[in-house]
Amino acid sequence: MAGEPQDDCLFCKIVAGRIPATVVRETDTTLAFRDINPQAPTHVLVIPKAHHRDAAALAAADPALTADVLRETEAVAAEENLDSYRTVFNTGSGAGQTVFHVHAHVLGGRGLQWPPG
Ligand code: C5P
Repeated sequence: MAGEPQDDCLFCKIVAGRIPATVVRETDTTLAFRDINPQAPTHVLVIPKAHHRDAAALAAADPALTADVLRETEAVAAEENLDSYRTVFNTGSGAGQTVFHVHAHVLGGRGLQWPPG
């Protein structure tokens, strides 16, 4: 069911504390932790604690939670003192999504090229 924890989901395991992560922020509904393979000096992932497959599924199921995630990306950027940063949702394996629990990448601390690769 939408939002329920999934046994085989890596990020649900991080939410449950069964896999370690370097948490930088936590709210009742969201968790933000450092990416294990950072692509920029700041690379933080913001996730809803509830399981949703991707950004489209989250937005359809729970607009308020979608807003919580976006608000937290801004909070992370402020805490990391980022004037400029990029927020990325990869959707689908063709776009590079490898973990199918929606997550916003917050990237900053270096110049970022456009378009991305
Ligand atoms: O958008 P995508 O699904 O590829 O992003 C998944 C991200 O999760 C990767 O950047 C990867 O480095 C990160 N990751 C992590 N901790 C894990 C496993 C993956 O930060 N234990």
